[in-house]
Amino acid sequence: MDLSEFTTLRVGGPAAELLAPASAAELVETTLGVWATGDDWLVLGGGSNVLVADEGFGGSVIRVLTRGVERLESEAGAVRLKVQAGEPWDELVAQTVGNGWAGIEALSGIPGSSGAAPIQNIGAYGQELASSLVAIEFLDYATAELRRLPAEDLELAYRTSALKQGRRGLVVSIELRLQENDGALSDPIAYPQLANALGAELGERLPLSDVRAAVLALRAAKGMLLDADDPDSVSAGSFFTNPIVSEEFARGLPSDVPRWPVEADEVEPVVSPLETFHPEDLRARPPKQELRVKLSAAWLIEHAGVTRGFRLPGSGAAVSSKHTLALVNTGGATAAEVAELARYLQTRVLGAFGVILQPEPVLVGLQV
Ligand SMILES: Cc1cc2nc3c(=O)[nH]c(=O)nc-3n(C[C@H](O)[C@H](O)[C@H](O)COP(=O)(O)OP(=O)(O)OC[C@H]3O[C@@H](n4cnc5c(N)ncnc54)[C@H](O)[C@@H]3O)c2cc1C
Repeated sequence: MDLSEFTTLRVGGPAAELLAPASAAELVETTLGVWATGDDWLVLGGGSNVLVADEGFGGSVIRVLTRGVERLESEAGAVRLKVQAGEPWDELVAQTVGNGWAGIEALSGIPGSSGAAPIQNIGAYGQELASSLVAIEFLDYATAELRRLPAEDLELAYRTSALKQGRRGLVVSIELRLQENDGALSDPIAYPQLANALGAELGERLPLSDVRAAVLALRAAKGMLLDADDPDSVSAGSFFTNPIVSEEFARGLPSDVPRWPVEADEVEPVVSPLETFHPEDLRARPPKQELRVKLSAAWLIEHAGVTRGFRLPGSGAAVSSKHTLALVNTGGATAAEVAELARYLQTRVLGAFGVILQPEPVLVGLQV
């Protein structure tokens, strides 16, 4: 069976072996069994953040379908949850909002599994998983041991973590810490567009259900909510992360390019080829204190002259008609066509602004 059946972009060829263990114990046992063979392996949750090659995957694909949410003991005012990796993320959010627990309400509508949430430290509308994640239960490929890893060890940062950067293994469950309050109020609203949609000020706390409803509506308007009736949602979400450049590089960009300062050690920098590397700069300004600036990938794409709905001649892949950051399969697209469109956008933005856009999804068996 083709992996396109299990990816939201609906591309990807067959796997040599497809496994779908039913319980957490079987998931661990199956994974250890696959590792013991020495074959290639891939863990797949909801398939909403992968681009799998048309040739498929020549190893074992382990689908994570284990469900379950358990409430752990916690201090007053807090709620601690242990969530099995296969629990659909948005069902978890709906449940926590329904119970009046704050902390992940702005992450409403993000597709995929709870176990994948730490991989790129999912984030949206002013919230990130990092602020609620306490620990993960992790089957470590390096040692074949099942361990509880505190969130501090995961190097969670803007759309990345140690797990996305090469620390291999299986997230079996995640542990979250949420807040309980009498009025079932949200975390302070931290995103201007969300505040506008709610008619609220930044920093206000609002009923959790209102925040969830507003986020879902904003997402639907951008094609960022999986919806069988919305062809723009046949995507992997944002295809590129917002680039991080040095302040010095940003100063050379046209003044109308939107930019935001980034905390010193928040993210790995994206190095532009047009930046000149001076070893003496490193000595003068240690990397931790280097000023970094975040740019908007969507703005760069649009201002490089690529419009919504754009597609290359004869290609089944297109830029979403609602959002330039999402690449969609308009029907019958191949993974190669999606990758070709992604490279085209990269080339346009590089030519116009000297910035290399980095893909956000995990690429399996192909390059962008
Ligand atoms: C319409 C749309 C909107 C989106 N919006 C957002 C958004 O607002 N913010 C955001 O951050 N992301 C967003 N995404 C991306 C995606 O939903 C998230 O990254 C999500 O966490 C991926 O979950 P998944 O289960 O589908 O992971 P998959 O796509 O199945 O896997 C992604 C990666 O994680 C690994 N992985 C998955 N599960 C495990 C596990 N249990 N243990 C170890 N490794 C694992 C896989 O091997 C792969 O490398 C969006 C995607 C879509 C399609």
